[in-house]
Amino acid sequence: MKSDQILLDADSIEDCASESASAAQRLEADLRCALLRNEFLLHYQPQVSCHSARIVGVEALIRWQHPTRGLVAPGEFIPMLEESGLIIPVGEWVLRTACKQTRAWQEAGLGRTGVAVNLSGRQLEMENLFAIVKAALDESGLEPAYLELELTESYLMRNPEGAIATLSRLKAIGVRISVDDFGTGYSSLAYLKRFPLDTVKVDRSFIQNIVMDSDDAAITRAVISMAHSLKLDVIAEGVETEAQLGLLIANNCDAIQGYYFSRPVDADTLATMLREDRRLVSKLLADDAHARTLLLVDDDEAIINVLKLLLCRNGYRVLSANSAEQGLTLLGENRVDVVISDQKMPGMKGVEFLRRVKEIHPDSVRMMLSGYTDLKSVSDAINEGAIYKFLSKPWDNELLCTNIEEAFRSKEMAADNKRLGEELHAANIELARVNEDLRQHLHVKSQQVMRDEIALGTAQEVLQLLPWPYVGIDSDGMVAVASADAEALFANGAPLLGTMAVECLPGALIEWLDSEEAGVLGLDIAGSRYRVSRRAMGANSRSSGTLLTLESEGSRP
Ligand code: C2E
Ligand code: MG
Ligand code: MG
Repeated sequence: MKSDQILLDADSIEDCASESASAAQRLEADLRCALLRNEFLLHYQPQVSCHSARIVGVEALIRWQHPTRGLVAPGEFIPMLEESGLIIPVGEWVLRTACKQTRAWQEAGLGRTGVAVNLSGRQLEMENLFAIVKAALDESGLEPAYLELELTESYLMRNPEGAIATLSRLKAIGVRISVDDFGTGYSSLAYLKRFPLDTVKVDRSFIQNIVMDSDDAAITRAVISMAHSLKLDVIAEGVETEAQLGLLIANNCDAIQGYYFSRPVDADTLATMLREDRRLVSKLLADDAHARTLLLVDDDEAIINVLKLLLCRNGYRVLSANSAEQGLTLLGENRVDVVISDQKMPGMKGVEFLRRVKEIHPDSVRMMLSGYTDLKSVSDAINEGAIYKFLSKPWDNELLCTNIEEAFRSKEMAADNKRLGEELHAANIELARVNEDLRQHLHVKSQQVMRDEIALGTAQEVLQLLPWPYVGIDSDGMVAVASADAEALFANGAPLLGTMAVECLPGALIEWLDSEEAGVLGLDIAGSRYRVSRRAMGANSRSSGTLLTLESEGSRP
């Protein structure tokens, strides 16, 4: 009985395995047909700038319009495409379609939006990847700077040297490279610096808990600041809430992508978004009209009410929370300049709360207003910069107001300094770019001059071989070119170049030149007779003046 049971189980496992093998085979066969039947399509998800609030790019995401299953997400078929090698032709179709679509938006006057295309490891390993990308760009007419290729860390790590070589060639023509799902592959940014990257996309798994999980917030902040120091842009993926967005803005993230702004949409819907110049709407975005905002956190409702009354009179926007947890949520949803917290509250204590605030909103000014002093924890928090000032309860209204006004001023001054620093940084980058352009321009010019000099030297050498003496006189009457024979004839071999024609040529010749008579002149020089012809210079060059050639008619009898 027992062995029967085992036999039965083995059978069913085999059945199941062959069923799943045949399911896999069916999927592979279906996918082959899908490509032929044009069942694949692309959706596009906008990427929005945290600075300008505008759409700055889109990510192309493949979908499968299955005849019976409807729209199938890539997670269900990309692994099979990779396993079967079908990802190569499908990936090429994605590239060509995305480039063509993006160019079409640009030509329709919908702005200069770029497109990001996901590449799989198999594509990165292809020897002709460069040629395929180049062909997609050439065929569509899309400028390379508007195409970004997304690769995950794991694909980059499979064959780093090969990836660096291929990506460097693509980068050299202007294509941008980004590392996708950053943070999931255990590699450090310092290591990734070896690759020619432009953008880091922070994985959705970090963004999901960024508001409540201080580790995820700290990791994201560290990634942003390290990426910036390596001159890389940062896009946060999977942003779904205003609180996540607020935290990312507060930490200088460059752009976001996620359901909060838009799900991936079809090409027509995206065109409408571009046409309407759809923007990120958030009170957290920097704007000059931002009201000075203060957050009060105290579990004593009566204290909150008294303080609100006092502070609203000073023109501040006052937010309040009865617990640290509630305070963190409000901080995610609002741009807060100054935070004032009680120390002794149920749940998270004030010191711990202000430490968290420092981590996720380092630009805020944090103060403690408490009657209770656990000297050690409060002084530790002050020493590590989590608390700007400690004020004791009961408070003196005037002193409190002065301290709060100072806190706002200190915040605004820091913001001004930061803005000036950023402007300086941007100006330096622009200056470096202009210098580089200038350097390139000079390089091209000096190469051109060098080529011209060589051509001129060659031409002069060839001219010296001519059997007749010749002299070129420029429009100011100066000798611009003369053969050695002419120098022997008119100046005993001394150089004629740069001398005035009237000083070195015979008077009869000068008179004939001045008369502007056409035809030829017969001239005797040093016992020989010459036929002098003149031609205006400049027919085939930018020179002007007259070219004289002397033809010997033999010795005078
Ligand atoms: P990915 O490149 O990391 O793309 C982002 C994924 O996150 C997309 O899933 C997108 O719909 C989803 N997403 C964006 N914002 C949010 C959000 O706020 N919340 C949540 N929950 N999800 C969000 P999708 O379209 O299902 O694509 C999944 C993965 O399939 C992509 O991840 C990418 O690795 C792969 N993929 C998609 N298209 C292609 C392709 O053309 N070629 C290759 N090789 N892979 C592709
Ligand atoms: Mg991607
Ligand atoms: Mg991703």
